[in-house]
Amino acid sequence: MSQTIEHTGSYYAYSANPTPERSALRGSLRADVCVIGAGYTGISTALHLAEAGYKVVVLEAARVGWGASGRNGGQIVNSYSRDIDVIEARHGADAARKLGAMAFEGGKIIRERIAKYDIQCDLKDGNVFAAFTQKQLDELAAKKALWERYGHTGLQLIDKAGMKNIVSSDQYHGALLDTWGGHIHPLNLVLGEAAAFESLGGQIFEQSAVVDVVKGKPAKVKTAQGEVVADTVVVAGNAYLGNLIPQLAEKTLPCGTQVVTTERLDPALAKSLLPGDNCVEDCNFLLDYYRLTADNRLLYGGGTVYGARDPGEIESLVRPKMLKTFPQLENVKIEFGWTGNFSLTLSRLPQVGRVDDNIYYSQGCSGHGVTYTHLAGRIISEAIRGQSERFDAFANLPHYPFPGGRVFRVPMLTMGAWWYGMRDRLGV
Ligand SMILES: Cc1cc2nc3c(=O)[nH]c(=O)nc-3n(C[C@H](O)[C@H](O)[C@H](O)COP(=O)(O)OP(=O)(O)OC[C@H]3O[C@@H](n4cnc5c(N)ncnc54)[C@H](O)[C@@H]3O)c2cc1C
Repeated sequence: MSQTIEHTGSYYAYSANPTPERSALRGSLRADVCVIGAGYTGISTALHLAEAGYKVVVLEAARVGWGASGRNGGQIVNSYSRDIDVIEARHGADAARKLGAMAFEGGKIIRERIAKYDIQCDLKDGNVFAAFTQKQLDELAAKKALWERYGHTGLQLIDKAGMKNIVSSDQYHGALLDTWGGHIHPLNLVLGEAAAFESLGGQIFEQSAVVDVVKGKPAKVKTAQGEVVADTVVVAGNAYLGNLIPQLAEKTLPCGTQVVTTERLDPALAKSLLPGDNCVEDCNFLLDYYRLTADNRLLYGGGTVYGARDPGEIESLVRPKMLKTFPQLENVKIEFGWTGNFSLTLSRLPQVGRVDDNIYYSQGCSGHGVTYTHLAGRIISEAIRGQSERFDAFANLPHYPFPGGRVFRVPMLTMGAWWYGMRDRLGV
């Protein structure tokens, strides 16, 4: 009997809405589409398809939202980990136009779903990119102009004096407030989307790790005790996929990032830290990100561990970062600390494509995935329904293997992280 895998000991698991424990797959099932992985990518795809009348089965190795989708900073950040100007410079005006037209869609999908299915996940508006230097603030002004060219009308540049209304920390020079961004309880979002999917007849099996995908029409997706025979398969295991499909593993690097959550703060203290109740991420390459929870805790993330090793003492890694931002929290206790894996690509753009005619995948959102994964679900479902223009816009981006292959990518990326950490500290 294999061991049951439960959610990591996060603040989110502690404050999750009630959710059923789903059984493991046993025996053989027939479906139009089998989705591997019940994070945002998998559940978003499954929900789009169920809304279109498809019979969809989702297989999850652990629990719904067990991966990054149930552990992340909860920040609804628009666009991609590499912005539209970089896409234009590297991949041309046509790619930039097509991807730019979708850059703010993921956040809209999230809001539509929360409203349509009445998902209780503490949605708040507004995310802030905070600048430590004038150079970073100039870059944020350029980001504002760029996003406005692509139709964003909800951006405000904040100067140093205005920062007192955003975050009570002396270290920032200014910021960009995106009122179309925001924050959510990420596990409750995916649990709500999973419930919506099931309400439309979709099936989810937990504790059902896929051990083999047999190509063919139909394809066979096998677990230890069962199989799903499906016309189409969607691979949505992201940083937790392991080596199930080796050609996908080769192109990405799982990275760990750490999050802590304080004890409940006095509401007045909480409000004084973040008067606008926005979420904040700073502009460093190795960035810190933080926000208040619905019950007045500070949830603070930062640090990146390439190769996704368990950092052990999470509090000792993240607490100094938190106190640098908010020295006023010196005597506040940390009640939760956890780590989670996201998937990094060399270009830092997501990888989308097919491993066979009827086997689709999306992976590698490189840190900013809450909005993108919701968009990915929509474009994959469009492609499965025969409209692949938007899917192809992503699939046409080149995927680069990590130089040195699997053996050298961790040391190389560790050196890269060291270099960028140095740059952040020197402010260059
Ligand atoms: C700590 C942390 C903080 C982050 N903060 C933010 C943030 O604030 N904002 C933001 O935009 N992004 C953030 N991200 C990134 C974001 O969370 C991810 O990009 C996104 O959740 C990825 O979703 P996913 O569905 O692709 O992958 P996951 O959520 O990781 O889901 C993959 C699922 O597939 C399952 N699986 C894997 N292999 C198999 C198999 N063989 N069989 C069956 N199931 C399998 C796993 O168990 C897992 O549940 C953060 C990531 C982390 C780790």
